[in-house]
Amino acid sequence: MRKIIAANWKMNKTRPMAAEFAGQLAMALKEGTPEGRLALVFPPFTDIAAVADAFAGINNLAVGGQNFYPAEKGAFTGEISCAMLRDAGANWLLAGHSERRHVFGETDGLIAQKTAFGLEQGFKVMLCVGETLEERNNNQLNGVLQRQLSSAIQPLANGILSKSPDQIAVAYEPVWAIGTGKVAGPDEIREAHAAARKILSDLLGNSYANSVPLLYGGSVNAKNAGSIIALDNVDGLLVGGASLEAPSFLDILRA
Ligand code: PEP
Repeated sequence: MRKIIAANWKMNKTRPMAAEFAGQLAMALKEGTPEGRLALVFPPFTDIAAVADAFAGINNLAVGGQNFYPAEKGAFTGEISCAMLRDAGANWLLAGHSERRHVFGETDGLIAQKTAFGLEQGFKVMLCVGETLEERNNNQLNGVLQRQLSSAIQPLANGILSKSPDQIAVAYEPVWAIGTGKVAGPDEIREAHAAARKILSDLLGNSYANSVPLLYGGSVNAKNAGSIIALDNVDGLLVGGASLEAPSFLDILRA
């Protein structure tokens, strides 16, 4: 399976900064990304068009929206639609990122609605799941993954996902590892990915579940990326802080 190396810029970079990063990436990757890798950038909305323009025509470089509202259009002040993101050049969407869940209070129900809507609109959706430190300490890892995955995926198992099997990816991001510098250890990643894969198999059937890319995210950097991406059952990386500088992101992409 192709490995996905994704950059989540969060609320960072003005347009000139984004254009500079994207230009550096496009220049370094003009012959395409390293074999078997997709590089995916989730910029702030105002930067998407500049990044998509710089990536145009280069193989295996893609752009996504960090957020969206699950309606075609209407009275949703401050929100952005899938059509607007598509028009700017995005073809991926993030759903369920821990900052959306824990800072903005997005519920499993809203995340399920967003996942379904994004897929129906023809986007690829990266669904993020993961436990807080308290949940981990209370041995709730499996329960949290079960709840977060089944609420979003169960309603789609016999519908859109049965028709478009390559539209969804899952990112396991333990909340305690995001932006903290505390990367999960190899056993913790293996255990969580095995649990997530088992839940996906129960929801979607074995062969489908095995084709869903399962990414790890949480304090990945250029030093630890190589050993994490080499783990069994890790099909990619979702990177926040260390994706903000092009040389660091390129090192992770090549790890
Ligand atoms: C993220 O925002 O998804 C993330 C994993 O952030 P960081 O790499 O900074 O921990």
